Amino acid sequence: MSALTFTSTTTTRRVGDDERARILAAPGFGRHFTDFMARARWTAEGSWGEAEILPYGPFEISPASAVLHYGQEIFEGLKAFRHADGSIWTFRPERNAERFQHSADRLALPHLPVEDFVASLRALVAADEPWVPQPEGETSLYLRPFMFANEEFLGVNSSAIADYYLIASPAGAYFPRGVQPLVVWVTDEYARAGAGGTGDAKCGGNYASSLLAKKQAAAQGADEVMFLDSESHTFVDELSGMNVFAITKDGRILTPSLTGSILEGVTRNSILRLAEDRGLEPVEQRLDFAELTSQIAAGEITEMFAAGTAAVITPIGELRAHGGSWTVADGGSGETTLSLREELTGIQYGRVPDRHGWLT
Ligand code: PMP
Repeated sequence: MSALTFTSTTTTRRVGDDERARILAAPGFGRHFTDFMARARWTAEGSWGEAEILPYGPFEISPASAVLHYGQEIFEGLKAFRHADGSIWTFRPERNAERFQHSADRLALPHLPVEDFVASLRALVAADEPWVPQPEGETSLYLRPFMFANEEFLGVNSSAIADYYLIASPAGAYFPRGVQPLVVWVTDEYARAGAGGTGDAKCGGNYASSLLAKKQAAAQGADEVMFLDSESHTFVDELSGMNVFAITKDGRILTPSLTGSILEGVTRNSILRLAEDRGLEPVEQRLDFAELTSQIAAGEITEMFAAGTAAVITPIGELRAHGGSWTVADGGSGETTLSLREELTGIQYGRVPDRHGWLT
């Protein structure tokens, strides 16, 4: 049972119809925002309250707010898809809600009940319905729930006030080049997460610490950065915002196991299920980078791809590191990669039967 009701404070739209149509024609990723946002506040004495849908826009924050100093913040990312019949669906939102609770535990923030998380999605998508793009061209409405410590207090302590917000942004392709194979730079200098750290939580700090490595990747002509484990620099962890997969010639699909230092992607979990359904053997194990590259060189690994809500499934064409570079097969988009992508997006957009009951 949902306890929170997100009530609207106004129905006046921020953006005119023409402007919205212009944005939806070429939304890009994460650059434009809708008319409304949802919020709720948690206090240590009173738990969750003040739930509302209000106009999207800046809010005031104290310069002494805990989040600005200690980064006590978590977020989520998922999409709403419009089907051909006009109906609007989200993909496995309960898993995002559960991961939000897991992240909250690690960052000493309060749990938002799963039902309230989903209620906020429903309320905002209803208010922002005209912002959910038509299904052509693989556009969707990206939903960004986040929670942060907002107590006005300079002391390293978990906050007695937490604010939850949900904003939305119409989304096209995450990578400006679209579904073109990625060049991935493998950093040997920086790690994303260490043992006992926050790698399996979705908190802003993980991304802040990835940015320098991402800049270096760009300087190497790469689209993304791959992190290895922090202790031995031997095993593949993940990319800055995506999980990694490799497909072998003999029909296995490999992805790094959940060691605590990588984020468990909803896309990752779904791909493992879809791959198994089609007879591939899913293998979750520690992925030795040296072995991986020698298997690529020997032609035993025939495809690699990155997977996440924003990037969906994007082929990886080349790995680059200080020690060399490795082209995966012919550097193009693998057949199984594209076919898994087609199936996943097919389910999301209602073109393929939702056998697993993943749509809400
Ligand atoms: N790893 C990281 C670090 C991420 O930020 C994301 C995106 N949330 C993922 C993996 C993929 O997760 P999901 O499939 O749930 O989007």
